[in-house]
Amino acid sequence: MNNPNDEFYTSEAFQLFFIKSANSLIIKADPPHFTILAVGNKYLDLVHKQRNELLGKSLFEVFPGSGADSSEKFSVFSSFNRVINHKAEDKLPVFKYEIFVPSSGKLETQYWSNLNEPILDKAGNVQFIINTTNNITAQVLETAEKERAQNLLKASEQNIQNMVRQAPFGMCILKGEPAFAEEINDCFLTLVGKTRDQFKAKPYWEVLAEAAAIYEPVTNEVFKTGKTYHAKEHEIVLVRNGREEIVHIDFVYEPMKDADGHVFAIMIVAIDVTNQVLARNELQSAYEQVRLSKQAAALGTFDMDLVNGTMEWDERCRELFGISHNKNVSYEKDFLPGLHEEDRERISKIISELLNKATSIGDYDVEYRTIGTEDKKLRWVRAKGKVFFNEKDEPVRFIGSVLEITSQKEDEQRKNDFIGMVSHELKTPLTSLSAYVQMLHGKARKSGDSFTASALDKAERQVKKMGTMINGFLNISRLESGKIHLEKQLFNLQDLLTEAIKETLISNPDRSIHFVLCNPTFVQADRDKIHSVISNLLSNATKYSPPEKEIEVFCEVIDNCVQVGVKDQGIGIKASDAERLFERYYRVKTKNTQHISGFGIGLYLSAEIIERHQGKIWVESKPEKGSTFFFNLPMN
Ligand code: ADP
Repeated sequence: MNNPNDEFYTSEAFQLFFIKSANSLIIKADPPHFTILAVGNKYLDLVHKQRNELLGKSLFEVFPGSGADSSEKFSVFSSFNRVINHKAEDKLPVFKYEIFVPSSGKLETQYWSNLNEPILDKAGNVQFIINTTNNITAQVLETAEKERAQNLLKASEQNIQNMVRQAPFGMCILKGEPAFAEEINDCFLTLVGKTRDQFKAKPYWEVLAEAAAIYEPVTNEVFKTGKTYHAKEHEIVLVRNGREEIVHIDFVYEPMKDADGHVFAIMIVAIDVTNQVLARNELQSAYEQVRLSKQAAALGTFDMDLVNGTMEWDERCRELFGISHNKNVSYEKDFLPGLHEEDRERISKIISELLNKATSIGDYDVEYRTIGTEDKKLRWVRAKGKVFFNEKDEPVRFIGSVLEITSQKEDEQRKNDFIGMVSHELKTPLTSLSAYVQMLHGKARKSGDSFTASALDKAERQVKKMGTMINGFLNISRLESGKIHLEKQLFNLQDLLTEAIKETLISNPDRSIHFVLCNPTFVQADRDKIHSVISNLLSNATKYSPPEKEIEVFCEVIDNCVQVGVKDQGIGIKASDAERLFERYYRVKTKNTQHISGFGIGLYLSAEIIERHQGKIWVESKPEKGSTFFFNLPMN
């Protein structure tokens, strides 16, 4: 405003107008003083001063902070000088002041703008400067607030973006109409089997067309209502990389709202739980299978917590112990008393050895009888189980199953009784047959009928074989029904060995048996039964080795036990068969053995006899090379 009219500015009318309305000062251009000539009322309000505090003073006296010695570049003083030099207005940057505001009684931070305009005289020199000040604190604060909010928004958008990208599960942000995937992470792309480019090119539900029918309306609803939608293990058919696949997904459609509460986007968080669902289904069907097969086999289960000393029995297990209630059961109160008294000691010994890491074989496989607690019924039970130890070798858990075998046991019993009866009945005619054959044999020898004598000799041997066989069956039936009793006596084992070897040689005259004599060795045992063991080992050695190969018998004392060995150079036994030889009716089936008669009971009986003497029986063998059968007996 370059009005060179001095009189106008000094006129009373102007002064009155100025004083009333302006938020300005009129300053004389008299550097460095810059005297205040006139002050607008509004200016006084702004600076909280009286007019007489300003009039005739230098501006920098009143406001020292804006003088020459303040910030050089932007001070009011420099601005006045620039106005004088350039004869043009000069706008200063916003000043920040700490001002004491009497109405609030506090120091307040205020922001002020300053505009300095020149008023020229006729000669064109700057005579006055109009300094207009505005308190722009409110605008400044508002702008600063806006900026802060914008920065925050930017930062949170950045945060969301990062969160989406780095999330270890599928994340996607849907925006717009139609909705596009604005942010989408790799996990999400893998989950839906689509590419980022596909989502860039088309609206979200066009890319995921296979799921749109069900889920597009759901997202629309979330946009509309602002309510979160949760889905748990939803089964969805997805076209993943061109192939239809059934997947199970947990997901959330979370509305994202602006300050006014409007939903501007939906965040989808999704996790593929297919594997978990399938594993659980598999587990469930496995459980079901176990349950069904347990039911079909009428299998009961037991579970002992050895740390807390508790025991769980299922319904079937309770049934096998004749218990109908569902109350707690315990090892001492229910299991041990439930056992048949003849089995109690044996089973409790087996279990205590099983629970001791030093003696435990880990697996439990036993047969015992129970007497029903309530119904007093006798039942035969087969129990199998396993013990688990902790790192300190303490038993912590013992679990297993039980199966009723009463009817098998009864069948076996009937079979045994039958075998026993038949063998017994066969023995009588066989004894008289043997007597007649012996008698005739004697007669033929006397009369010099050598043909008949030799035929009767053979007949006698066959009758003897038959007798041994029948005795075997008789013994089995006795053993099974627990009717075998040991009649112990002290005898010299060496004599018994010599006796048995002689008998074997009588029935096998062309064999050679080498007996490595040992010292006279006395044992306390059932002589007849040990005799049958030795005879059986010798008979097997002759049966399973060629006649020209020598058989060796030896005996020695080791660790207070007498150990006997019968060694042949015959067909030998494979390791897998050797493990099972001592089982009842077990026979090795090979080309070599198929024509050799036998029932697989000799070794079973021998093992039973030796075990009842607290001894051991075993075999060392190599196929094609020969076998050595050993047994030992304690000496006292
Ligand atoms: P058996 O000889 O009547 O079949 P055993 O119980 O005495 O019954 O023997 C069981 C099986 O062990 C035999 O069938 C045979 O296959 C095998 N066996 C026993 N002794 C020998 C041996 N010395 N050499 C090779 N195999 C043998």
